[in-house]
Amino acid sequence: MSTAATSTQDPRGTQQTRDALASLHDELVRRNPAQPEFHQAAHEVLESLAPVLAARPELAEAALVERLCEPERQIVFRVPWQDDKGRTHVNRGYRVEFNSALGPYKGGLRFHPSVNLSVVKFLGFEQIFKNALTGLGIGGGKGGSDFDPHGKSDAEVMRFCQAFMTELHRHIGDHTDVPAGDIGVGGREIGYLFGQYRRITNRWETGVLTGKGTGWGGSAIRTEATGYGNVLFLAEMLRKRGEDLAGRQALVSGSGNVAIYTVEKLHQLGAVALTVSDSRGYVVDEKGIDLDLLKQIKEVERGRVSDYAERRGASATYVPGGSVWEVPADVALPSATQNELNAADAETLVRGGVRAVSEGANMPVTPEAVRVLKEAGVAYGPGKAANAGGVAVSALEMRQNSGRDTWSRERVENELATVMRDIHDVCWETAERYGTPGDYVSGANIAGFERVAEAMRAQGLI
Ligand code: GLU
Repeated sequence: MSTAATSTQDPRGTQQTRDALASLHDELVRRNPAQPEFHQAAHEVLESLAPVLAARPELAEAALVERLCEPERQIVFRVPWQDDKGRTHVNRGYRVEFNSALGPYKGGLRFHPSVNLSVVKFLGFEQIFKNALTGLGIGGGKGGSDFDPHGKSDAEVMRFCQAFMTELHRHIGDHTDVPAGDIGVGGREIGYLFGQYRRITNRWETGVLTGKGTGWGGSAIRTEATGYGNVLFLAEMLRKRGEDLAGRQALVSGSGNVAIYTVEKLHQLGAVALTVSDSRGYVVDEKGIDLDLLKQIKEVERGRVSDYAERRGASATYVPGGSVWEVPADVALPSATQNELNAADAETLVRGGVRAVSEGANMPVTPEAVRVLKEAGVAYGPGKAANAGGVAVSALEMRQNSGRDTWSRERVENELATVMRDIHDVCWETAERYGTPGDYVSGANIAGFERVAEAMRAQGLI
């Protein structure tokens, strides 16, 4: 792609640059058929880049944007394992090592039946920019499997993790590629994966995975970091508008790790989380979600949110099949999965008086819904900025591992707060600089892009 050096009077960049980016996206769709999630994630970023490429044409030289859209390496492998009855199953494993211009590939593993190459590539692509925004020297990657941990025994999950790592171990390493958790991969799975890595390699290489237990190389606050970070980002967005998070009513979707610690931080900061959900329905609790009960059901019993409603008493109602976006509230934190909040949901939220939406999950708000929110003047924090707290604390875990060190909770929590404030500010300032004030999407995409593109340019045609 070539672009001309012209003025940026037009905040969306020159027409010529926009046309070049649009044909680049057409080509990406042609070369990557049947990958709708990847097309969507790439489109959102490419759409933002016209102003920066018009102002800094050197960042488009040597097919830099095309190279950025092509993973450095994609690994797809067979994962055979046996269930408790001795039956054999075959799943597919993935690791997409997308970009290592800023550091080792870094990003989670997702175990969910919906996982395919399109999903892993969208997540890996997002991760490049998210990780760049943290400023902590990490490249972008993602992986996972179509394995469904739901309803499996611990022994089955362990055998699956061991089979998965038996192939994955040859591709990762603390200076190469450092996986962590995502949907379906938490502390239990990271433990089994780490154990198998250690057994195969005979190396105590704690920095090869993050999200480990705190007794064996894990960082304080890593479990909480994504949810905590998202609430801190939301608080910054509100502060910028002269508003306070305290006293606000909040909608949280999902009931996994991100959702649980989103609720916890909302309550610590004086807001009230009204809802949580799972794939079957949602709970609305007018007294605010009882965190101890939620943790007991989700983290200990691995149960459903319907169990929460049953045990909570009169303040909670379970709504089967519905969506939390039906409930009027001041702020919304989608924390379940991609494309969970569509244009109709966004209109419902706006009618309910929502002030801000901040993404705990990756790409939970559809592009049409983003448009609805922006037109209504709702503050909108995209996941690659708002949920970067998880991977940021992963990078802090890597630092601790390199120094064989263990930092206090307080230290990690302070560093997380600083990282989230810095990400907020760089997004804000970048959006202003490129003529789209208040637009965190373009701010995040351009700021992340500039860091990666500058590094790629300096490192030559690789
Ligand atoms: N899966 C998380 C994310 O989407 C965390 C990745 C990590 O800690 O490496 O950012």
